[in-house]
Amino acid sequence: MAPSLEVPDNVQDVLSNPLKAAPKLVAPEPEHCPGPESETAGQADSCAGCPNQAICASAPKGPDPDIPIITARLSAIKHKVLILSGKGGVGKSTFTSLLAHAFATNDNNTVGIMDTDICGPSIPKMMGVETETIHVSGAGWSPVWVLENLAVMSVQFMLPNRDDAVIWRGPKKNGLIKQFLKDVEWGEMDFLLVDTPPGTSDEHLSVNSFLKESGVDGAVVVTTPQEVALLDVRKEIDFCRKAGIKVLGIVENMSGFVCPNCTHESQIFQATTGGGRALAKEMNVPFLGAVPLDPRICMAADYGESFFDSWPDSPACTALKSVVRRVIISCDDSGGANDNLEGSVHATKIATSGEMMIKLPVDFERGTQGCKVSSQDPLKTSPSMKDPRGTLA
Ligand code: SF4
Repeated sequence: MAPSLEVPDNVQDVLSNPLKAAPKLVAPEPEHCPGPESETAGQADSCAGCPNQAICASAPKGPDPDIPIITARLSAIKHKVLILSGKGGVGKSTFTSLLAHAFATNDNNTVGIMDTDICGPSIPKMMGVETETIHVSGAGWSPVWVLENLAVMSVQFMLPNRDDAVIWRGPKKNGLIKQFLKDVEWGEMDFLLVDTPPGTSDEHLSVNSFLKESGVDGAVVVTTPQEVALLDVRKEIDFCRKAGIKVLGIVENMSGFVCPNCTHESQIFQATTGGGRALAKEMNVPFLGAVPLDPRICMAADYGESFFDSWPDSPACTALKSVVRRVIISCDDSGGANDNLEGSVHATKIATSGEMMIKLPVDFERGTQGCKVSSQDPLKTSPSMKDPRGTLA
């Protein structure tokens, strides 16, 4: 019989307190042991003479005392959004950087990105601040400011050399994520985007437990159209539901390829089972839109530039603007995670983001066509910038 992989731990217990770990005992628990994770471990009468007593007595107990500090530190951030993907290589970090640039095009917004991909921090490169370092002051760690209203925090800023590998086990990763939340001087912000590594592991559990009291608007799940990617998205959505995280919606990335020269569209990753749109329907979550593959997005990321500024008229930019509008609507929609926005053609929604109010006719089938954008539009695009490399115009 194949060995069972069933986890004996209570799922809710793991989700609500992922950092609780049984102390490593040097001897078996005696008969009257109150439990090495209990409040009285190492201090109860029955612990007297037990070889584990010192270990159990010093093991952390009770609620994490740093949670209230994190909650206070993040209290001036209006929206906190997680960016998740079930699988690696679907463009999650790229999407995070695009979303941040999109929000930051409105000077009234202040946006932060917290890069929790400890072993593969790619956000600094995409934002053009790879060689920056963190400054520490009495108020905390200063994030690196890409623009006057766009800040980034990543482990990349702490590496002695750009190509140094971060080879850390779970507890150390959890510790750094906690410091990103507790010690970084985020200040007043409209959006904090938390870019996570693929899957449902230590980093996700930590972020979820640390932000539980601060309040998370929800998660945007990024996928590609093929079933191999969608398989993992189902698990990601299941994780969100078990962890009590609202799913703001699914974004289908690399959805077709639009040739920058002839604008012909071809499908690189075939949606054999209906792609992200069908999955959103199946899982009863909003479908935020499909973004085509565009080599200029990769090029903008490599050069650390804003794709929105560089190619504002490209099909991918149009699709991304549409997705970003829906993210804002999902953030502010009091209807909750199970509102499937698919099909709300020509509906009018009002999305408020703090002082920012956007009234737009939402046309989910036709992208941004027909969207009337107010002067406070968060997607106010900068003037077109010429391709500095002279390629892929
Ligand atoms: S010290 Fe106490 S809690 Fe720890 S193993 Fe011994 S009896 Fe159990």
